[in-house]
Amino acid sequence: MFLSELGSAWHDARIDPDIAHLDSASAGRSSNAVIEAVTAHLWEESKHGSYVAMEAAADQLEQTSRELAALIGHHADELVWRDTGRAALRGLLGVANLPIASTVWVAKNEFGPNLVEFERRGFAVHTLPEVDVYGHVDTDALENMLQFEQPHFIHVCHIGSANGVVQPVAEIVEIAHAADVAVVVDMAQAVGHVPTITGADVVYGTSRKWLTGPRGVGFAAVRPDSRLRIDVADMEAGATAGFIAGRLGLGAAVAELIGLGPQQVFDELAAIGRATRERLTGIASWEVVEPIDEPSALVTLAPPPGFQAEDVAAAAARLREAGLLVTPAVAERTPLMLDNSVLRLSPHLDATVEDLDRVAAELRTMGY
Ligand SMILES: *Cc1c(COP(=O)(O)O)cnc(C)c1O
Repeated sequence: MFLSELGSAWHDARIDPDIAHLDSASAGRSSNAVIEAVTAHLWEESKHGSYVAMEAAADQLEQTSRELAALIGHHADELVWRDTGRAALRGLLGVANLPIASTVWVAKNEFGPNLVEFERRGFAVHTLPEVDVYGHVDTDALENMLQFEQPHFIHVCHIGSANGVVQPVAEIVEIAHAADVAVVVDMAQAVGHVPTITGADVVYGTSRKWLTGPRGVGFAAVRPDSRLRIDVADMEAGATAGFIAGRLGLGAAVAELIGLGPQQVFDELAAIGRATRERLTGIASWEVVEPIDEPSALVTLAPPPGFQAEDVAAAAARLREAGLLVTPAVAERTPLMLDNSVLRLSPHLDATVEDLDRVAAELRTMGY
């Protein structure tokens, strides 16, 4: 039985998987329409030449940009394309004209590889105070801090890689802007998953996760009045056209999301997250990390006492052998929050009650 009303439509738009796919946070399952949009364009490229095919697809590419931009609160001409989310961040930092030793404030759920990007540029990174044990940003404390000191920018992962907490980004943006501070938002785990119109100066993300577009497509969007003074034209300069077939595939994925109704998708994913946390609470000695009703479908389980990273990896491998695709998420992905691996489940709309029962049963039979 599907956990969501949209489950059967979402499921029927795809081939039957060989596994119970509970790993959208790594890469969501693309629909047949997405795969067809990618392959159709590859055939067109072979028939007519890549650049001719790209020109012929201009209207669809424009529509993709328009619809994706609308989903993240931007306009089509504010978008730039890269192969990955990380490449988008690098591109942004490359043209942002930030002084050496810039100060950046981040939240507790910051993505490890982003911290590496900041550190190699010599940025001073400070962690924002949290309002609860889960790591939600304390917006009152932020407002106070900004009266005394302003960083060069605030960088926040709307949702992190190995934690399902949804940061109050719209509120953070409002408070930061009142102090004339720019906010850059990593939406890699948020777009297609939760509402992503936040008013932020700069956002970036990836196609392959909750949007279930193809791998190899990343994007950034910069408001023309961005306080970071990034010129999209500078980012475009010297960039190649990139993976056009992939961008068209992403367009198909975004069109499907719009067809289902984005707000309903976000609500259903939140309900699936809640159902998953409820079902997996109190199973052996694993512990659900997020609040039960955190409005995301990214769920993590902290391992029983004494478990090392390799034990979590072994548990994930056991689940995979049982046909349940989950990820052992290492602490380095969310280093400010975790000191040990967690088991990450990220079901999409076609998750079933039986999938969760099987995960629970497998965790129990492992005997911890
Ligand atoms: C996956 C992820 C990224 C990076 O996306 P890539 O396209 O793999 O570069 C960035 N931030 C977060 C929080 C992620 O989960």
